[in-house]
Order: sequence, then structure tokens, then C-alpha cells
Amino acid sequence: MLQQTQVKTVIPYFNRWRLSYPDWDRLAQATEQSVLKSWEGLGYYSRARNLHRLAKTIVHNLKGEVPSSLAELQKLPGIGRYTAGAIASLAFNQKAPLVDGNVIRLFSRIFACAQNVAQPKVIAEFWHLAEALLPQRDFGIYNESLMELGALLCTPKKPQCSICPLQSICIGKKSPERYPYKEKARSEKREEKIAIVKNKNKFRLIQGTKRQRGFWLFPLFNPQLMNWNKTMGTLNYGFTKYRITMNYGECLFKEKATVPGKWMSLKEIDALPLPQAHRRIAKGL
Ligand code: SF4
Repeated sequence: MLQQTQVKTVIPYFNRWRLSYPDWDRLAQATEQSVLKSWEGLGYYSRARNLHRLAKTIVHNLKGEVPSSLAELQKLPGIGRYTAGAIASLAFNQKAPLVDGNVIRLFSRIFACAQNVAQPKVIAEFWHLAEALLPQRDFGIYNESLMELGALLCTPKKPQCSICPLQSICIGKKSPERYPYKEKARSEKREEKIAIVKNKNKFRLIQGTKRQRGFWLFPLFNPQLMNWNKTMGTLNYGFTKYRITMNYGECLFKEKATVPGKWMSLKEIDALPLPQAHRRIAKGL
């Protein structure tokens, strides 16, 4: 949950998640739809799907036991280098490096690294550095300390250098705001038109595919099947490298048009997982 997401955003989700899925068995038995519903609003839904797959793997293939070695952990669904390093060192005190956004910022400043941290080869260097700097013991405490130092003292804005325990060795402390250096990636603009089709008190929704698999959505406007009566609103939001402008409007199906999906009341829609932008539209309705 904490990947790309701040702790304060995660806390209510984490608490609800622990109540719904207190162990691997309960998560493995859940439907994908209910897992996505629990995750709704957190974004990056592949994390929820991977966690679900992970629970199934642990229950069905590993007798309910999470492996402790870095190599075994990295074979599991959704567990990359960072998550494997975090589990191995924090949960099992294994000798494993860990690099997250906090550690990148901390190392960039301590070593006054002027290279672009958006480049994979620079990140690879940070991993080498993290491995080389590992102590002889207490790997979990050490990794946790690096992350906490980055999160609490060596913050993106106004780092507290005067009380930092590493100030005597920090090369970048005179101008910490220069680090980490990151070239901004250009975002691409994308426009979408979403059709709100109503019949009595019900709305037409379709099932998502690909990255929206498991979700329900209002359909995309298709001029061959529908007429656009009037625009109801516009939403602007970012998704990965895209800046999306989503116009949604009241539409009517053309005569004899066959559109897949289901008619649903607002109460039924409320109980289903919807991508965040579609949830905002549903709330407006
Ligand atoms: S001295 Fe300042 S810039 Fe250097 S690691 Fe500590 S808080 Fe960060």
C-alpha cells in the first residue's frame, strides 16, 4: 500500500484491510471484486491484484509460510527488489539492501550526487551503494533507520540538518535542496468522453477489461451507438504519464443499438468497485 502513497493516506485503508483480511487464507478466499472494492480510492490497482495472487500462492503452494530469503521472495507475484528487501530485512533480519524514495534522497544529499535519479542506471548505483553500506548485523533496524531519517529529518523541503546525526559526513548539507536531481518527464494529454445513460432510475455500466479488469465503469461514448444529449461535467486527473481530461455527459442509446453491461441503481453502484474518476461521477449523480 505504501508504494507511491503517503502513510497518512494508507492508514485508514490498512486498518480496514486488516479487519477484512486478517490472514492469508481470508485474502486467498476473497473474490477479486471484493479485493478491488477494499482498495478503491488508493489507485495503482495492480498492487491489490498482486497481493491477492500472492495470498493464493502462499496458501496453495507454500503451506501458508512466507519465505525469508531474498531470492525466494522475489519469485512471488508482485514482490520486486524493494518489497523483497523490506520483508527480508525488517521481518526476518536478513542481510538485504533496501532503496526507496527516502533512501534515494538521503544518499543523494550525503554523497552530493548530481546525477539524474530518473535514470535506471543511477538507481542501480544506489542499490550497489546500499548493499556496500550494510552493517554486519541488525539489518532490519539499519534499513528502517535509513528510511525514517529520510522521512523525518532529511525531508524533501526544509531538512533538519542542525539535528541530523549524519551532518558531519554529509557533503550536500550546504544546499540540500539541490538533491536529488531529477529531470521531469513530460506528461501526455489524453481526452475521454464518458456516456451517462439512464433508464428510469438505473444507469448503464460495463465491466472493465485489461488494467480495469474487475471494475465497473460508465461506458465510453460511442457515436455509432449513442447520441450525446448534453455535457454534465469535466474531470481532470493524472494517471501514470498521462494528464486526462474526462468529459461526461447525458447520452441516449440509438434505436436497436446493443451495448453490453447492466442497468444498475445508485445503491447497487455504491457496492461495486469503480475507478476513482467514475466513482466521482457516480457520487455527483
Ligand atoms: S545533514 Fe541535512 S541534508 Fe545531510 S543527511 Fe542530514 S538532514 Fe539530510
